[in-house]
Amino acid sequence: MVVVAHPDDECFAFGGAIALASDRGVETYVVCLTDGQAATYRGDAASGEELGRIRREEFAASCRVLGVTHHELLDYQDGRLEFAEFSRAAGRLVERMRRFKPDVVVTFGGDGSLNTHADHMIVSMLTTAAFHWAGRARRYPELAEAFQPRRLYTLTSNFFHPDRQRPLPSPWTVVLDIRPVRERKAEAFRQHASQAPLMERTKANFEEHGGEEYYTLLAAEEPGPARVGTDLFQGL
Ligand SMILES: [Zn+2]
Repeated sequence: MVVVAHPDDECFAFGGAIALASDRGVETYVVCLTDGQAATYRGDAASGEELGRIRREEFAASCRVLGVTHHELLDYQDGRLEFAEFSRAAGRLVERMRRFKPDVVVTFGGDGSLNTHADHMIVSMLTTAAFHWAGRARRYPELAEAFQPRRLYTLTSNFFHPDRQRPLPSPWTVVLDIRPVRERKAEAFRQHASQAPLMERTKANFEEHGGEEYYTLLAAEEPGPARVGTDLFQGL
């Protein structure tokens, strides 16, 4: 289960991990909290609502390219996630975790990952809370039966966009070689036609660094020292 903030996060950030999981027959579920109406690049959209509709379709097309089993877009306002009611928003994720029962949950790092977007930071915090609360029967007892996912990973990075303030990334514990699915990740990104100028702007950076994705194991069943692995599902 992957939790993101905006249509296109699923591919530019997590596309490699999702495509690799899907190729292994892992059932995947991407939850996106907003429809991306506050984007800088607006394609031909005449209004925020129209852009939201366009980006909803682009998100669905990108998920198809990546082989996502289930995708869902919630109704939070782009650019305003920090003002959403925390407990209610986390509860919506708790409910989805309890129903889908993922082994592995993946989201952004607390630094906002790569472009340091505040929405990404909030998604990281909501998902972290939801991951732990999903397993606690006393939290949200009205929302399905408690279920504890086994691992939580957050995205981190070894490179940054030169035109943005540099975040403080968490150290990685998984280096994913995504070269076998790199072209599909790019193809998924191309489904976001409204964001084509963004793709152009970040292209050189992704060409240089795009062969790998980096993740931090944030929570696991057994206590122990961090080890660097090459697979989000190792030992599951
Ligand atoms: Zn985003």
